Amino acid sequence: MLTSFMERIKQITDTWVSFLLQSAAKFGNELTKEGREDQRLWRQQRLRDLHFTPSKPVTTKRQKIVILGGGSGGLVAATQLGSNLGKDHDVILIDRRSQHIFMPAFLFLMVGQRQPKDIVRNLKRLEQRNVQVIQSEIEGIDPKRQQVLLDSGPIFYDYLIISLGMRTAPELLPGFAEAAQHSWELEATLRLRETLESFEEGRILVGVPPGPYRCPPAPYEAQWMLDSYFHQRGMRDKVKIEFFTPAPEPAGEDRTPAVWMDRQSKKRGIQQHYSFSVQSIDAQRKVVKALYGFELPYDLLFLVPPHQPSQVLLDSSLVETGSGIRVDYDTLVTRWGNVYCIGDCADMPVSKSGGVAHQQAEVVAHNLTVELTGEGEPTTLRLHTL
Ligand SMILES: Cc1cc2nc3c(=O)[nH]c(=O)nc-3n(C[C@H](O)[C@H](O)[C@H](O)COP(=O)(O)OP(=O)(O)OC[C@H]3O[C@@H](n4cnc5c(N)ncnc54)[C@H](O)[C@@H]3O)c2cc1C
Repeated sequence: MLTSFMERIKQITDTWVSFLLQSAAKFGNELTKEGREDQRLWRQQRLRDLHFTPSKPVTTKRQKIVILGGGSGGLVAATQLGSNLGKDHDVILIDRRSQHIFMPAFLFLMVGQRQPKDIVRNLKRLEQRNVQVIQSEIEGIDPKRQQVLLDSGPIFYDYLIISLGMRTAPELLPGFAEAAQHSWELEATLRLRETLESFEEGRILVGVPPGPYRCPPAPYEAQWMLDSYFHQRGMRDKVKIEFFTPAPEPAGEDRTPAVWMDRQSKKRGIQQHYSFSVQSIDAQRKVVKALYGFELPYDLLFLVPPHQPSQVLLDSSLVETGSGIRVDYDTLVTRWGNVYCIGDCADMPVSKSGGVAHQQAEVVAHNLTVELTGEGEPTTLRLHTL
């Protein structure tokens, strides 16, 4: 049974790949109107092949759609589902915070180009889109009973969208709490900003730990923003900036992103240390220690904290890998047919970024709308940003 299922999947994939190759050959990069229509029909067929059938018949009964997390993914899903379905069904968003925090702006906050009030919004504003907002810690998720446990008790759902992000886990790296600063949380960013304002001279080490973390390009941007920041303050010559990453030294054409970033950093006089896999920090000696005995000294250490899936996902045994919950890459559905997972807590071979979370949320919101209204066609995730 499993073998024939796998063969079927392989057959579908092979046909799909060959179709894409044929389309590319036929239409070049610019698809004609007919080419786009062909692709649309093929995608619909593929969804049917992948058993994308509504998990329930279209119903007039009021359904409860619960969205966990009011970050980038949850916010987009709630906005769209509230607008599409909120009058006929219950759309509920739950987060421990009362506010959405727009994390991509943390680097601007770090260098004083944004204030906290610029990057937070009250989640209650979603009520204008027919979304009920509950502020609560989520203590458990039980897909078998179709319920989420809050501090006030359990809440039942018909459909669940999990967008609980990743948790920063400084405790996973010995010495991090005493020695390192970062901009991966709001409070930490404000502390780093104060440190930078009083920094007069010395070596700033910007680093990346092993393992997944939110927004892979952000530490690269951070080193350039620090470079500009100290130039603007007229003291760049007093500050040495260095960067380390466990990734190997990039190779290839200049337009390969990693090569381009390496060149940009070097142009700015920022030394790059590759294959540097941090293991611990010695706060007293002010050195970062890596595999194979490598060490780097610092005066100010700006290190991305290690990340883990949200604690409640670990406690509820929903995550199978350190990167999150397994999902179908096309539809974001999990192994429980009425549970979807999007954003940083979905285990997918893409960067953990708000842009990806946004696009995933749109697909899930669209498909649930189709499922509950019976109108339109289901779609699949086709990322335009990785
Ligand atoms: C410095 C920095 C720069 C970035 N730059 C970019 C960028 O330029 N472009 C880009 O696309 N992305 C960027 N990102 C990444 C982006 O912010 C995240 O990938 C995105 O926010 C992920 O969305 P999400 O919905 O998966 O999770 P999150 O936005 O992390 O939301 C998760 C929500 O779940 C809530 N939550 C978690 N656990 C519980 C619980 N047990 N109970 C109740 N509530 C809970 C949290 O309070 C949070 O509101 C950046 C991130 C950082 C830190």
